[in-house]
Amino acid sequence: MKITDLRVALIGQHPVVRVTTDEGIDGYGGLEGNRASNRQQVLYYKQAILGEDPTNVERVMLKIRRRGAFKPWGSGVSAIEIALWDIAGKAAGLPIYKLLGGKIRDRVRVYNGAVRFPFTEHTPKGYAENMRRMKEAPEGFTIIKQGISFHSPMPGVVPNFHYGEVHGAPARRTAAGGLAPTGVSFQGNRGLHTEQGLKHVIACVEAMKEVLGDKVGLALDCGPGWTVPDAIRLARALEPLNIMWLEDMLTGDYTPYVAAEMYREVTQATSTPIHTGEQIYHRQNFKDLIEKHAVRILGPDPFDIGGLAELKFVAEYADLHGLLFAPHGTLDGVIGLAALVQVAAALPENYIAFEYPKAREHWWYEIVEGLPNPIVKDGFVEVWDRPGLGIEFNVGRAREHLAEEDKEFFE
Ligand SMILES: [Mg+2]
Repeated sequence: MKITDLRVALIGQHPVVRVTTDEGIDGYGGLEGNRASNRQQVLYYKQAILGEDPTNVERVMLKIRRRGAFKPWGSGVSAIEIALWDIAGKAAGLPIYKLLGGKIRDRVRVYNGAVRFPFTEHTPKGYAENMRRMKEAPEGFTIIKQGISFHSPMPGVVPNFHYGEVHGAPARRTAAGGLAPTGVSFQGNRGLHTEQGLKHVIACVEAMKEVLGDKVGLALDCGPGWTVPDAIRLARALEPLNIMWLEDMLTGDYTPYVAAEMYREVTQATSTPIHTGEQIYHRQNFKDLIEKHAVRILGPDPFDIGGLAELKFVAEYADLHGLLFAPHGTLDGVIGLAALVQVAAALPENYIAFEYPKAREHWWYEIVEGLPNPIVKDGFVEVWDRPGLGIEFNVGRAREHLAEEDKEFFE
């Protein structure tokens, strides 16, 4: 079998990658739902893989893997890798998890980082109200993640929050008049918290825990941008609350480096688990974090790390060193959901949960067939057994959402 073409189309806000072959089997991959600008980057790899046998996934990847980098530059390589596994699975008549070593669980736990509600205010009361709505969501999530501090609008809306300059636009108002559900509008801030700022963060976390009790776990996306002493202060202050993890305090998101030594200082100073890894590309860049035991939990994204086999390798190596695993995925859409279900089924027992991705447009659930309904039940997704990723486009319906320049995508 030979690769005959590599195409990219923007379907709604989700860039989709399609690899075609001379045997009529095709495979799909995707990029995060805010990566329209990375389309050309995917096509950059085309000449290197045309004519290759896609079912020799690793052999094809050896030709292009060295050209990737930290988020967002690992996304093209990752999307192609996932499309190759989709083809290899379809060619063998097997779900991808079987090609990765077989499943060790029939259903995979997911955590909520995508089912969001508008904020009224970024106060303890506002955080509690918002958490109550997420707790009542029909998916029945057993772990919920919320953004705080530099991963929220706090630097801009809480007076005297930190000693640094405030970067970012004022929090966007939603149609309902509330604040936008995520804090992305103020990301990019960095520096030492004031005592008031730190106390505000802690009060908001306490208010959320009050709502959740001990039945639903609370994870916190925190930065990046924290200083080491503040990170230690927060982690220690939250110890009695049994937080699931503190994510990306020092580096993360789009930071093009790891800072393993600094993470190690924080991790060694507290019993609260420290988490990072969503922006990191390639196993080599996890080596320091893992071998130095710099964090307790790793959270790579299959759309950025280099794909499914890369993610599984890092999970195994982390397990060997006593680190836990909770992959990122909030912006990965329906194709990302399928990819995460396949790989999570085969991950070792250091697996906690992956971040459940939701498509940005609701009609995505009408153009793709093969997903369970409901998708999430009691906080889990049942692993499906169809070949490859196990989902298929309803091409007739999907075509309606293609832009003029992408009209040939499914041809
Ligand atoms: Mg994060």
